[in-house]
Amino acid sequence: MGRVSGRSCIVTGAARGIGRAIGEALLDEGADVCFADIDGDTAERAACENEERADRNGGKVAWAKVDVTEREQVQEMIEIAVSAFGKLDVKFNNAGINKPMNLLDVTEDNWNTIMKINGLGVLIGMQEAAKQMIRQGTGGKIVNTASIASRQGFDNVAPYCASKWAVVSLTQSGARDLAKHKITVTGFAPGVVATEMWSQLDRDLMEIGASEREGQAIAEFSADILRGRVATPDDITGTTTFLASKESDYMTGQVVMIDGGMVLV
Ligand code: NAD
Repeated sequence: MGRVSGRSCIVTGAARGIGRAIGEALLDEGADVCFADIDGDTAERAACENEERADRNGGKVAWAKVDVTEREQVQEMIEIAVSAFGKLDVKFNNAGINKPMNLLDVTEDNWNTIMKINGLGVLIGMQEAAKQMIRQGTGGKIVNTASIASRQGFDNVAPYCASKWAVVSLTQSGARDLAKHKITVTGFAPGVVATEMWSQLDRDLMEIGASEREGQAIAEFSADILRGRVATPDDITGTTTFLASKESDYMTGQVVMIDGGMVLV
């Protein structure tokens, strides 16, 4: 038996990067996983490429195209998972974006776009997952992706930091509001993870003049990591599978740092 055998899970932002790794690690431990992403084609590919992994471990895969800021699409995604797996036990609100700008240049559009996906997207994801879990009467787990930027403000990414602090607040408020339904709400906070998000960030920081050459921003930003290197998505998944498993049943309202020792709070 795997650590999450028989658990029905949805992961958003699962076409690639951390989300895909979360989904694959859940499959390795026997779960059913719906890979959901705004990039539907790549989410479908992630699901197809993981069918054999699911078979091997006694689970199933599904996929959904979803914009996490659109409530109806989120409801449809949940219906897809429930019709494929029979229920929803664990919902990962992982989709997120960043677009750096110096504080003085931040526009309303930059702020609104980031806050909408990283903040409102998590709120809607929590609400719709909780409604399904309440209908089932089985309780459940909601796990939100925060960041080191949830614990400390960084230059050139103020709206991203604000949005990730919001994820911590939503996790705490959700834990309090949903406890009576036996739903726990937790989060995890990665530091620097080598995904397309950071590759793009590195290019964007060069474009706004915050760094001069490729790789410089990520190298400087990660210079003080106590573990001496940036993370890979696989560094994150021990914790995420734990948060989806029975082992974390007594945890709620907490956000776990997984940053190799960058921000010590
Ligand atoms: P990524 O850019 O590689 O993947 C993000 C995925 O989210 C993409 O597949 C994208 O299509 C999807 N997405 C974007 N907007 C969406 C929307 N509106 N609806 C549905 N899907 C959408 O990023 P990643 O590095 O894997 O990051 C995943 C999460 O981890 C994000 O919330 C990010 O903020 C957080 N995080 C990342 C790092 C890092 O260093 N990479 C550090 C801390 C936190």
